Amino acid sequence: MDQTPRSQHLHDTIEDYLHVLPQIRTGLSDQSAIEQRQQVIREKLGATAEEWSDYRWQLSHRITSVEKLSDLLPLEPGTLDQLSQVSERYRFAISPYYLSLIDPADPDCPIRRQSVPSIEELNPEGVLDPMDEEHSSPVPSVTRRYPDRLIIKVTNQCGMYCRFCQRRRLIGETDLAVDEATLRAAVQYVREQPEVRDVLITGGDALMLSDQALERLLQDLRSIPHVEIIRLGTRTPVTLPQRITPALVEMLRRYHPLYINTHFNSPAEITVEAKAACTRLADAGIPLGNQMVLLNGVNNNKYIVRRLNQLLLTLRVKPYYIFHPKTVQGTSHFWVRIEEGLEIMENLRGYTSGMAIPTYIVNGPGGLGKTPILPNYLLYIGKDKAVFRNWENKNFEIENQPNRVQHDPGHFE
Ligand SMILES: *Cc1c(COP(=O)(O)O)cnc(C)c1O
Repeated sequence: MDQTPRSQHLHDTIEDYLHVLPQIRTGLSDQSAIEQRQQVIREKLGATAEEWSDYRWQLSHRITSVEKLSDLLPLEPGTLDQLSQVSERYRFAISPYYLSLIDPADPDCPIRRQSVPSIEELNPEGVLDPMDEEHSSPVPSVTRRYPDRLIIKVTNQCGMYCRFCQRRRLIGETDLAVDEATLRAAVQYVREQPEVRDVLITGGDALMLSDQALERLLQDLRSIPHVEIIRLGTRTPVTLPQRITPALVEMLRRYHPLYINTHFNSPAEITVEAKAACTRLADAGIPLGNQMVLLNGVNNNKYIVRRLNQLLLTLRVKPYYIFHPKTVQGTSHFWVRIEEGLEIMENLRGYTSGMAIPTYIVNGPGGLGKTPILPNYLLYIGKDKAVFRNWENKNFEIENQPNRVQHDPGHFE
């Protein structure tokens, strides 16, 4: 077969993508503009370069007041008042680093949309706890919804409070680490449940614990023989990459098998700092996954998600989940239709590496749990055959083996 027409045809299938690619802003393509903004913010906050790179400085200098924000970021006249109104209802906090990623010239900047409060948050639609986490909690700070794994929420603190947060109800007014006694009781619960083989430490943000507090928890969990794997959920590689210190990864690597899932939502978050943080974690042998939330005005676009997932692979982060947004009160401006998510999935398979394709998940309300959805590729399945369509919408069928002796490899009593 002549190769030329086929490769030309393959090129044509991504012609549209190749055309928009140069217009997709990434933290790496924007590096010099980001550095300039960091310089300005740093000077205004009176920090040395060393302080800027210290996550403790970044944390203690999170921007939490409208006055400070308006000093560091040009705001539309009139929005000041709205911002104050919203921040009375839902607090905000933005690390100086994450703030520096905002492109002030872009009113629709995806970084701004995720971090700066919007008057739309006062829309009363939605519910406080759509996942009904409060009712799947056998002991305080533990959520157990599946047979062999559970989550422990260790703090309500984050490097930045995402405006679409699903646990807004817990973010409250102040940063609270879960107290020692509650953590010990959570570990004790795990110890008494031999079928729990996977423990997910989250929050808030798991890496808001100090290295010492986190190590104590990891040690306790590792003393339980039936805990096979430990996972950490953290957005710090995105919002506070300075947190990923050499000391932290040296500690973490002693508790393998340990996995980290992080939370990039936009190519604009893929910066030199984020890349350095992921490199450090991956070099410590920690497999990295990404849990993206599908968000109106941030990433509800097939090209943006394709680029994001490709860039994540260059950071050795495997796209794991795309979550359909939950109907949390105060986040209605981020909601999308299910068709948008399906279209994004449709435009990943075939068009880019299978490694770049996560599972699209809808969460069943009231604790019914993660439920995968996929464009439909199986058009018919009968006794003798099954009919499919491929990524390019070409149909084919295969035999549905009718009459062979089936061998079951499990000879279980
Ligand atoms: C998301 C979640 C998990 C982990 O689910 P995986 O599909 O294994 O990643 C575990 N417990 C609870 C309560 C969760 O919400």
